[in-house]
Amino acid sequence: MSFEIKEYPYLQFGSIYCIGRNYARHIEEMKSERTEDPVVFLKPRSSLIFNKDTILLPKESTNVHHEVELVLLIGKQIRNIPVDDALNSIQAIAVGIDVTARDIQSNAKKNGLPWALSKGFDSFAPIGNLVEFTTKLNLQDLDIQVQVNGELRQSGNTSNMLFSADEIISYLSHQFTLYPGDLIFTGTPEGVSPIVSGDTIKASIGNQFSTLEVYVRA
Ligand code: MG
Repeated sequence: MSFEIKEYPYLQFGSIYCIGRNYARHIEEMKSERTEDPVVFLKPRSSLIFNKDTILLPKESTNVHHEVELVLLIGKQIRNIPVDDALNSIQAIAVGIDVTARDIQSNAKKNGLPWALSKGFDSFAPIGNLVEFTTKLNLQDLDIQVQVNGELRQSGNTSNMLFSADEIISYLSHQFTLYPGDLIFTGTPEGVSPIVSGDTIKASIGNQFSTLEVYVRA
């Protein structure tokens, strides 16, 4: 069953965890290094937006990128969960975009500073309709793509994730207590590129079962 957030106004969202450097070809295009453990960062709750909403480009950046990602909605309170039990804590999945002010992020990386500002502006975490998760669904074989103004910009498959969904949940739960309503952005495949005012972005995952359409304005 699929549901739109707006049909579930009582659904409370919590922390927004994000994983970086989780696809080898994206690591290559960013000229980054692969890491032994997942790279974790967070976005504030105020960055979350939904279908048909608008990404607002901040005046602080002149180079904002899309990063299309599989997003997990946690449905249980968990701490120190083993990998083989981790999928049972997922309530739903969606397609999402980890919107990134690349110039601000590059500057932060260069200076050894956190990524929060580059990743956390209002509207920088759009997610599509949530699809209820069952363990019959193989999260590691989902096509994922994003189009900008009808042009295909990213097209990948979750089989190429370096850390799988269960490994990510287990890892995070060993650092933090996860709560129902927490979201996890699981990293982006290659093909990230700039978005500008006036763009229409359409993203999908798993043969269109979660889709997202958002607009971009300065
Ligand atoms: Mg990302």
